[in-house]
Amino acid sequence: MQSSFIQPSQTPKTVAICCPRCAGSTGAIGEGKGPHAAKVTCRDCGRFIQWLSKRSLADLLGGEQS
Ligand SMILES: [Zn+2]
Repeated sequence: MQSSFIQPSQTPKTVAICCPRCAGSTGAIGEGKGPHAAKVTCRDCGRFIQWLSKRSLADLLGGEQS
């Protein structure tokens, strides 16, 4: 079970990805580590997809214009 890395006070954000394991298209943005602002894991199978820099995270969270 790896469901505890997102704190309840944080709103889980998702990002479009292409999972190499399950071909899922939805990534969950989780807590970063060290120099990384956040990490992206597959929301379907939990596979690690990529790290996000602060810039990338800001772009993702701030770029939800519709
Ligand atoms: Zn997956």
